[in-house]
Amino acid sequence: MRFFIALCALYISVQAYDFNFIKKSGTDNNNTLLVIGGIHGNEPGGYFSAAILASHYKITSGNLWIVPNLNAKSIQADQRGLYGDMNRKFLKIDKNDPDFNIVSDIKKIILDKNVTLIINLHDGHGFYRNKDYGTIFNPKSWGQTCVIDQCDLKNSTTYNDMDKIATQVKLNINKNLLENHHMFNVKNTNTKFDDEEMKHSLTYFAVTHNKPAFAIETSKNLSSLSQKVYYQLNAIEEFMNIMNIHYQRDFELNSKELSNIINNYGTITINGNIYLNLEDIKKSLSFIPLQSSYNDFVFSSSIGSVKTQNGSFDLYVGNKRVTTLHRQTFDLCKNIDSNVSIKVDGKVKQFKFASEFFVNDDFTVMKTNDMRVNVIGFTDKKHKDESDLNINYKSLDKSYSIDDHKKRFRIEFYDKNSFCGMIVVNFR
Ligand SMILES: [Zn+2]
Repeated sequence: MRFFIALCALYISVQAYDFNFIKKSGTDNNNTLLVIGGIHGNEPGGYFSAAILASHYKITSGNLWIVPNLNAKSIQADQRGLYGDMNRKFLKIDKNDPDFNIVSDIKKIILDKNVTLIINLHDGHGFYRNKDYGTIFNPKSWGQTCVIDQCDLKNSTTYNDMDKIATQVKLNINKNLLENHHMFNVKNTNTKFDDEEMKHSLTYFAVTHNKPAFAIETSKNLSSLSQKVYYQLNAIEEFMNIMNIHYQRDFELNSKELSNIINNYGTITINGNIYLNLEDIKKSLSFIPLQSSYNDFVFSSSIGSVKTQNGSFDLYVGNKRVTTLHRQTFDLCKNIDSNVSIKVDGKVKQFKFASEFFVNDDFTVMKTNDMRVNVIGFTDKKHKDESDLNINYKSLDKSYSIDDHKKRFRIEFYDKNSFCGMIVVNFR
């Protein structure tokens, strides 16, 4: 599975890995926070936080590098690790291990000379307390902690006092608690002396290479995903404050706004000629014109992925299946001008394939010489080509809508037996 994100003004995405790697840069280059989400596929608080960091934060000073979906296949499967625990493969890993490339690649990124501090995002069991208060609140729980492997780093000159940094993060999170029992603590695993297992972890790999590294564990027992993301982002923002990395975010940090952001799955562009808004999209769409062999899916979300099986395509954002596209196989048109004229509420406008437009009353796709128009959900027995026909909301069979609110419909363009492109009409 190779991922691709379109270049946009806010960030550059590097395309050489089995995960997404997003670099957001401010003005200076010597101070880089690396945030890693999704090492465990069933811990969505971590990877949804990293994805929001990628799409809703702008860095104005310093650098923020984000790997939102390290263990992408396990995220899609909503499992801790399809091939075992990836966070136990950093001390040694067999060359034949399916995770070998991912672990090798992220190690190189961790050791990049620009990276000055690393945080690895998790959702952990329960709520950590230093005394035993039962199965949820006890010293063995991981939830609501900033985890360090040791107190300090002797050979690092920057951010070497990890205990002090973790304590500052904890104190600041505790000023913004949603409920008192969510309070954060520092958990020192004292890995070198006390914890054989943690010696195999990502953070310990970083620490033994003189890179300050922390794990943030929000609790799996929090009542909602938005609460987990709320605490992750509070922690990450405090790390950025400590590192003097300046940022702007385009939303208020509270769990209600986060819930809206998490539930907005963004958009997908397929083969450059189909564009679907994933908001309110039906759980299943049929006869989607796709190619038999290769199809290129580009999500706006950095944790979007596709699972292909027998001519159907499950689209995921994180561990959530958003919809399934059932294919009707077509070749793609060659050398077709993707500019189309459509009269929208009486006014002629230009559109390109892989776009959508809004209409109040009616629309008419203007005739072109080389393409046949098919408005899905519209039937006129006299016409095979549905261009030059006035179409309003009443004339559409609503069962063909793309969305649950029955507002959006597909307009498809064909040249003989090839599919040229789609434009979506959106009724207000
Ligand atoms: Zn984890």
